[in-house]
Amino acid sequence: MSAPVTVVNVGYRSTNSWVVSAGRSRLLVDLGWPGTMGTLRANLERRGVPLGEIRYGLATHFHIDHAGLAQELKQVGAPLVVLESQAAAVPEMKRHVKPADRFVEIATHDNVALTFAESRAFLARLGLAGEILPTPGHSDDSVSLLLDDGAAFTGDLTPPQMLGDDPASAVAAASWRLLSERGARTVHPGHGPVRPMPH
Ligand SMILES: [Zn+2]
Repeated sequence: MSAPVTVVNVGYRSTNSWVVSAGRSRLLVDLGWPGTMGTLRANLERRGVPLGEIRYGLATHFHIDHAGLAQELKQVGAPLVVLESQAAAVPEMKRHVKPADRFVEIATHDNVALTFAESRAFLARLGLAGEILPTPGHSDDSVSLLLDDGAAFTGDLTPPQMLGDDPASAVAAASWRLLSERGARTVHPGHGPVRPMPH
């Protein structure tokens, strides 16, 4: 295809936010804590990523440290992608915040609804070769971005070595198997450093 793909972490407060770019066509994966737009702006600037070049926001799941700035990013020109398994979680966000968090409620009528089957074509329009996969376990609405070069952005999907015998662990284990089958080689988690795909 075209421009080389680059990945930059602009996260803070121990939560990663990944700018995945094909040249200047950029997707932001995980959308910061509520009330921290200034910090995100500063980090983008420091890493040389113009805010105006972010074409879409994608939350691996709708917990406040991963989707807290979704609405504010929409307001500055980065529409929110909502996968089919995430629609119900978007309006639930406001239940988990306190007024002091300065959370801006996410409108539900103006997002970019996407099915997993459509995700490859959607990413291709951004210049990115890959797909978005349902990877429940940590939460029902958890998704992962998987690029064809093997880079997987897995949010809070529980690491395999921390899984137990409970039903939620079985769901997470199946998500890891799916990522592995589809070619994941490197994990870009929601918290902590980039690591090799577990096996
Ligand atoms: Zn979470």
